[in-house]
Amino acid sequence: MRLIRFFLLVIVCSVAAFAQPAPVGIETADLNRSASPCNDFYEYSNGAWRAANPIPATMDRWSRRWAAGEANKDQLKVILEEASGKRDLPKGSVDQLIGDYYAACMDESRVNQAGATPIKPLLADIDAIKDQASLQRMLLRFAGLGIQVPFGVNAASDNHNPSQVIADVQAAGLGLPDRDYYLKTEERFQQARAQYLVHVANMFRLAGYSEADSRKAADQVMQFETALAKATLDNVARRDPQAVDHKTTYAQLQQLTPHFDWDGYYKDANLPRINLNVQEPKFMEEVDRQLSTATLPDWKVYLTWQLLHGSAPYLSQPFVQENFNFYEKTLGGVGELKPRWKQCAESADQFLGEALGRDYVARYFPPEAKARAQEMVKNILAAMGDTINGLDWMTPDTKKKAMEKIASFNVKVGYPDKWKDYSHVVITRTSYFDDVMAGAQFGINDDRSTIGKPVDRGRWGMTPPTSNAYYNPLLNEIVFPAGILQPPAFSVKATDAVNYGAIGVVIGHEISHGFDDQGAQFDSTGRLNNWWTADDLKKFQAKTACVVKQFDGYYIEPNIHHNGKLVLGESIGDLAGVKIAYLAFQKSQQGKPAAPVLDGFTPDQQFFIAWGQFRGDETRPETQRLMVQGDPHPVAKFRVIGPLSNFPPFASAFSCKPDSAMVRPAAQRCVVW
Ligand SMILES: [Zn+2]
Repeated sequence: MRLIRFFLLVIVCSVAAFAQPAPVGIETADLNRSASPCNDFYEYSNGAWRAANPIPATMDRWSRRWAAGEANKDQLKVILEEASGKRDLPKGSVDQLIGDYYAACMDESRVNQAGATPIKPLLADIDAIKDQASLQRMLLRFAGLGIQVPFGVNAASDNHNPSQVIADVQAAGLGLPDRDYYLKTEERFQQARAQYLVHVANMFRLAGYSEADSRKAADQVMQFETALAKATLDNVARRDPQAVDHKTTYAQLQQLTPHFDWDGYYKDANLPRINLNVQEPKFMEEVDRQLSTATLPDWKVYLTWQLLHGSAPYLSQPFVQENFNFYEKTLGGVGELKPRWKQCAESADQFLGEALGRDYVARYFPPEAKARAQEMVKNILAAMGDTINGLDWMTPDTKKKAMEKIASFNVKVGYPDKWKDYSHVVITRTSYFDDVMAGAQFGINDDRSTIGKPVDRGRWGMTPPTSNAYYNPLLNEIVFPAGILQPPAFSVKATDAVNYGAIGVVIGHEISHGFDDQGAQFDSTGRLNNWWTADDLKKFQAKTACVVKQFDGYYIEPNIHHNGKLVLGESIGDLAGVKIAYLAFQKSQQGKPAAPVLDGFTPDQQFFIAWGQFRGDETRPETQRLMVQGDPHPVAKFRVIGPLSNFPPFASAFSCKPDSAMVRPAAQRCVVW
C-alpha cells in the first residue's frame, strides 16, 4: 500500500516539474564569500545573513530556521484572532476553546487587574498546612495542576516491556537549571546563585511579603533546593539510560519513601499499583528525608515559591516580567519579552496544542510536503541500512540486530492521525489563569490515563506547529511535525541537493539517534536490551570516544568548552546524519539527468551549504553558556563544522587542502557509522 503511494507520487512530481519554474538552490546572498569554506564553513555558508540579521531583542538565537519557527506563530495568530472574533460557538468546539483561550490571554487589563488574586486560594491553603497530612495533600494538588514538586510522576513506556505504559518517577522541583548551579564554585555559578536569591525574593515581594520576609524566604528556598540538588544526578549521568532505570514494585516505592503517602497519591491520580520506574532513587530518599526532617515552615516557603514560580507567566505583568528577567534575561541574555500576542499563541500551543494544531495543518500544511518528506525518510533509512551493511568492523550477528532495528522504525510526518479530544475542557474569557490551569489539568489527566495500558503509538510528543523533530528510542520512532517542513529546512520548490542538505540531514540525525550512545542501548522493539556482541560494543565505544574528544576541544569562551560526553548523542546524530543524508542524496540522483550546477555551485556544494545555512544560528553568549552546561545539543557553529570536518566528501566538494581547518587529519577523523 505504502509502496504504491510512493510510486504514484514520484510520477506526479516528475510530471509537475515540467510546468514549474527552475528549482531553487541555496541562498547565495547569505554567503560570506570573503571567508574560506575550507577554513570556517560556518562563516562562509551563512556569515552574510548573520551580519545583516542581528538577533532580535526577544530571541536567544537567530537564523533563517528560527525566523521560520517564529513565522509559524504569525500563522497561529491569524487562526487565533479569527477564532476569538467568533462568538456563541458550541462549548468545547475547537474554535471556542482556542478562541476564548486567546481572548482571555489577550485581555491584559483584566489579567493585570487580578494581580496575584488567581493564586490566592492556593496560597491560603499552603498557609493553612498544619501537619504532614495537610502538607502531603498539598503536594497532590500541586501534582494535579502540573506543578510537579519536588518530584514528578509521568507516563512512560516500560524500558523492559516497551509496549506497556507505566508510571515514571522523576526528580524535579529545582528553580535553577541543574545541580551544578547550586554546588559548583566557579564564578558563573556563584553569580547565578546570587541573582537567583534576588529573583526569589522579588517574587515573594510581588506576592505581598515584606522586604525582610522576602529575603528570608529566598534563603530558605536556596537551602531547601540545595539539599535536593545534592541528591540529583548531573546532566551527563542522567543521559545514561541504565543510570535512570530502576524498575520498582509499588511496595518497594513505599519502602523507598516511607514518609510519603503513596496510597493517597495513587488514589488521587487514579493510578494502578503496578510496577513502575524510579529514575533517581537517591533523590527520592532525599525527598523522604526532607519530609521527615524539614520543618513545616520550610516546606511552606518552598511550596509558596514553587507556586509563584510555576504561575508567574500567567499572572499580571510584574510577575511575567520578573520571571522573564531572571530566566531569559539574566540566564539567557535575551533583551526583552516577546509581544503579548506571541506569548498567548505559545501558551495556546503549549496547553491546547492539538486543538490549535488541527487548524494549523488544515490551513498551512500542503499534503505534497508530507509526501515528499516521507519519500526522503524512506531513502535516508535505506542509506542507514546500506551503511550498516557495509561496515567492516561489525560482526554479522550485531549487523542483523541493527538491520532489524532499521526495518522496524516508525515514521510520523506532519500531524497525528487521531487528534486529542479537548471537548470537555472548560475554557472561558473570564480568567486566563483558570484557562491555563484547565489546560494543564487536561495534559496531566491525559498523561495519567495512559498508565497501565498498552502503548498508543498514535500519540505525539510535539505539537504540529513545532519547528523541531525527535526520536523516541522506546517506540523506535522518528517524528517530524508540520512546523519544520518548510524553508529553510524543506521546500517542494528546492533542489534535491538543498532539501537533502537541510531537512535530509535532520532526518538522518533523528534516524542516527537510534544508533547513538543512548539509542544503541535499545533494541528494535524499544527494549533497553544489549543487542551487541561484547567486541562490537567495545569498537563502537572507541568510535564514540573520538567524538567526545572532538567536542571537548570546542570552546565558546577562553575557559569554557563543550562537554563532549554531554553532547555525544547529538553529535553522533549530526555526524551520521550528514553522511546518510548525503548517501541518500547521491542515490536519489541515479538514473536521473545530472543535477544542475546552480549559481555556480555543484550539487554536492549545494548540499553542504544547505546544512550550513539551515544550522547557521547566531547564539547569545549567555545562552551558549547555558547550552554548554545543560543542553545535549552543541552550539550551532560546532554542529556545522564538527561533522563536516570529519567527512571527506565535504573536503572534495570544496577542494580543501588536507591541512585546512575544515579537514581533520585522518588519524583524528571521527567516523561512528
Ligand atoms: Zn537530536
